[in-house]
Amino acid sequence: MDSRCSVEGEARCTGGGVSFSAASGPLPPTVIDAVAAACHGTAQARSILSLPFTSPQYKTLQADVDARLRRLLDIPAHFRVLFVHGGASAQFAMVPLNLMGEGGRAVYVDTGHWSRRAAAEAARYGRIIRIGTSDAPTPDAAEWPIGPDAAYCHITTNETADGRQFHALPAIDVPLVADMTSDFLTRPLDFSRLALGYAATQKTIGVPGLTVVIVREDLLGGALPITPKVMNYAAQAEADSRLNTPPVFPMQVAQLMLQWIEAKGGVPAMAAQLERRSAAVYGTLEANEDVYRLPVGAAQRSRVNPCFQLANEALTARFLDDAAAAGLHDLRGHPQTGGVRVSLYNGLDEAAVAALIHFLDDFAQHLQ
Ligand code: PMP
Repeated sequence: MDSRCSVEGEARCTGGGVSFSAASGPLPPTVIDAVAAACHGTAQARSILSLPFTSPQYKTLQADVDARLRRLLDIPAHFRVLFVHGGASAQFAMVPLNLMGEGGRAVYVDTGHWSRRAAAEAARYGRIIRIGTSDAPTPDAAEWPIGPDAAYCHITTNETADGRQFHALPAIDVPLVADMTSDFLTRPLDFSRLALGYAATQKTIGVPGLTVVIVREDLLGGALPITPKVMNYAAQAEADSRLNTPPVFPMQVAQLMLQWIEAKGGVPAMAAQLERRSAAVYGTLEANEDVYRLPVGAAQRSRVNPCFQLANEALTARFLDDAAAAGLHDLRGHPQTGGVRVSLYNGLDEAAVAALIHFLDDFAQHLQ
């Protein structure tokens, strides 16, 4: 197999080809260059790799990431932005520990793999009511059986493994908590509907190691007594997210990605780019319906992680091999769902998307 990248344009083909991985999103070449420069350090700035978190340079960096997030997402002043370790999976525990209250109950909307993982972890700390099925509950949230005494209702805005997405935040009467890990900063957020949103940064704004929690201030302070201190939102807020050593390097990458997003036109530009790209992918799949099957109904299809099956399942391995030979990697579906999955995270290059569309068409035509 030719390991040279067949994708032309701005895409950087380190390792031979481009990745459509769902696990970690690509960084644009200009961001990679800026990260490298930050690693080396300059006359004005110390290397990020050994920068003490107590230094004025780090504090300025963290404050800048906070300010950029607020600007990009229009975060209201009564929300705190926390920066923590442990990935989105740590939030599966931190959310109930901090918000459920003694003897409380919470509602988890089951839309797929990641919402089930969140619910299973929360069940260790309190009473969980699961609503919805893999087909997702009715889009009309007024009909969800939440009940008035739920401490909160948890949703996964984009089911990374299943390719299913809420295209708008539901309007509900109890605090809405959202795992936004795979569509963070891909579209504007309606903070009038949100009480707490969290996202690990490795998919849309950086590398693993940093999780952003955006939480309404009045929800701080009710953690269960068993909550470890580093997992206590109020303690983290009090310490300005420096209760212990924060994820310094991922913070640097996030700053550079946020700068890149701003230069591209901000969140509306990311949303428009994604809408165009996902429409092109789904359009190509639909145009070749003899070859590709779309398991998720149009109203719930993820713009970020389109998932599909080969109509003849036996062809999946050949599809993945041919794609890899064309320099298009990491298209295998999640182990729980199988099939093929495309991830269209913010940093993905236009040339990579064009090459994928071309390949989807070409593969289908050659089967005719
Ligand atoms: N939630 C969603 C929606 C995800 O896609 C993932 C990771 N794929 C997670 C949670 C878990 O994130 P982490 O690996 O950072 O714990």
